[in-house]
Amino acid sequence: MNTEEHIYQLREELRQHNHNYYVLDTPTISDYEFDMKLKELQALEEKHPEFYDANSPTLRVGGEVTKNFETVVHDYRMYSLDNSYSKEDLMDWEARIKKLVDGSVSYTCELKYDGASISLTYEKGTLVRAVTRGDGIQGDDVTTNVKTIKSVPLKLQGAYPDRFDIRGEIVLPYEGFAKMNQARIAAGEEPYANPRNTASGSLKLQDSSETAKRPLDCLLYNLAGDRLGIDSQYESLTKARDWGFKVPEESRLVHSIDEVLAFVNYWDEKRRDLPYETDGVVIKVNDLLQQDELGFTAKAPRWAMAYKFKAEQAVTTLNEITYQIGRTGAITPVANLTPVQLAGTTVKRASLHNADQIEKLDIRVGDTVFVEKGGEIIPKIVGVDFTKRISSSEPTKYITSCPDCDTPLTRKEGEAQHYCPNDLGCPPQITGRIQHYIARKAMDIEGLGGETVALLVKEGLIENYADLYTLTKAQVIPLERMAEKSADNLIAGVAKSTEIPFERVLFALGIRYVGETVAKKLAKHYKHIDAIIAATEEELVQVDEIGSKIAQSVREFFTIEANRALIDRLKSYGVQLAITEEQLANQTNILSGQVIVVSGVFEKVSRNELKKMIEDNGGKVSSSISSKTTYLVAGANMGPSKLEKANKLGVSIISEDTFLSLLDT
Ligand code: AMP
Ligand code: ZN
Repeated sequence: MNTEEHIYQLREELRQHNHNYYVLDTPTISDYEFDMKLKELQALEEKHPEFYDANSPTLRVGGEVTKNFETVVHDYRMYSLDNSYSKEDLMDWEARIKKLVDGSVSYTCELKYDGASISLTYEKGTLVRAVTRGDGIQGDDVTTNVKTIKSVPLKLQGAYPDRFDIRGEIVLPYEGFAKMNQARIAAGEEPYANPRNTASGSLKLQDSSETAKRPLDCLLYNLAGDRLGIDSQYESLTKARDWGFKVPEESRLVHSIDEVLAFVNYWDEKRRDLPYETDGVVIKVNDLLQQDELGFTAKAPRWAMAYKFKAEQAVTTLNEITYQIGRTGAITPVANLTPVQLAGTTVKRASLHNADQIEKLDIRVGDTVFVEKGGEIIPKIVGVDFTKRISSSEPTKYITSCPDCDTPLTRKEGEAQHYCPNDLGCPPQITGRIQHYIARKAMDIEGLGGETVALLVKEGLIENYADLYTLTKAQVIPLERMAEKSADNLIAGVAKSTEIPFERVLFALGIRYVGETVAKKLAKHYKHIDAIIAATEEELVQVDEIGSKIAQSVREFFTIEANRALIDRLKSYGVQLAITEEQLANQTNILSGQVIVVSGVFEKVSRNELKKMIEDNGGKVSSSISSKTTYLVAGANMGPSKLEKANKLGVSIISEDTFLSLLDT
């Protein structure tokens, strides 16, 4: 077997194992064996870029960055669904259908998955495009992100049609969602609200390697295309499964509305055992000819109907509204309830989101309220039983000043949240910021936990994170539950944090909107804290992925004298506030300000190496050609459309050798 055949064979093997693992859920080799094969393929591809394949299993890890998602018009419109809530609704629907079509009618019953809808286009068995639903007529091209979802086949198997679209739902299973949130909480970040929004947000991340890290799944249920050789919805589910798609197994073919209701009743209970959220059943006329006869209304197919499960609700009393203050000063109103059982847990508190929400629902203390649990971590209040309202009740007056420090609250134009602006004096903000600073993904200070931080603040031993570095053993030993050993650990842990690299320090500072990824970008671009402090808003937005909201927040942070004083102190304690010599050694600014597109395969270096060289030398890699592109580095077999676009826009096209000689000068 020659190298080329070997590469193809490995790709096919890995594709099959991916399918076994992610679609069929029955792996036939160990994770370790899989990794070894993947590594082998990676090494071969690295050595032989001439056999590059955009759909290789090695590219599932993502890496491509998209700044603006292109709008794409769907070849077949993505409709929404009509809803029904009772047996009567379904009987009415059936009666309407029977008037419009001849003969008996069968139905498929499918679960209604609660995620982000997606349309995938396949040509000659290869995934060519993934587009969000958008307004149903056009959506966003999110192909680079969708390719990282392991259950989405990049290549099909069996006898598939030449070209078709397949529709389905991208979901985030509960377990993966919970893990993501645990990690966020540990990092001092706000947890995500629910799996559905997080799934759809994941499709719009600019860095596809971030999407790759999320445990997303893709469930498919609808084919669209011409002459697919299929007669019924049920057949299309079976066929799609044969071609390698993850088509949920719960679907059933039934012949009456009574059978539909039996399916609904069964899953209303059983859905709690499913790994992801469902919010109803979708009933579809099975016969495609009958579907054609029925056609569409302006908004939805006449041949399909959604039946919504009743969300689990509990009724209880709202006893008090309290307010929580986050480390950024954001205020969250919390409902304190008479404890009640809901979906197997006791609920005592529920989120009220913000002032608008309270006003919209007219929620008042003393009210009898309906509480619901969706995918959210804490339940929410969805309504008030006005028949039970006591006559003496008063509309809720949202607080106007901070419950902790009494500072008048502010609210920015267009934002729903109120903030306590007293960053430096508000105790929960002070504690929250220090807790964020020491978190695992930030300074990762061993021997110091969130509760100890709260205690240290309460005892007046620290007021900010710089104070951590002047703590002495003698000061901490008298604290509750602090022994000789733990005091030593605390001091040592703080001292050791001076080894944490600049990008994480930048994240630890707790600048609003500067998360891990943004901190990385800023550190890489500016290399030194002083350069960031000196940067204007206009300069900051020039940095890749930095928008005006972030730029403004960074400026605001460093304009505050007290924050700059903190930075000076951190510097004096030896905290890393610049990229080290070693990190710098391989970097220059030769390509600063240049936007470079790389296309095709190369002889001397791999595409990835080329991209890294561009970034390390201050340039920016872009995946699409625009008027801003400085160079197109062209290799063998590059796409004709890129070439054409470059010519049209007058972008300089250079060879690999010319590019490498640029770096030599
Ligand atoms: P709605 O947004 O409430 O109008 O419901 C329509 C949406 O339900 C579609 O856009 C799909 O994203 C989603 N959906 C979930 N499961 C199914 C399914 N089995 N069949 C059709 N649509 C589904
Ligand atoms: Zn306050």
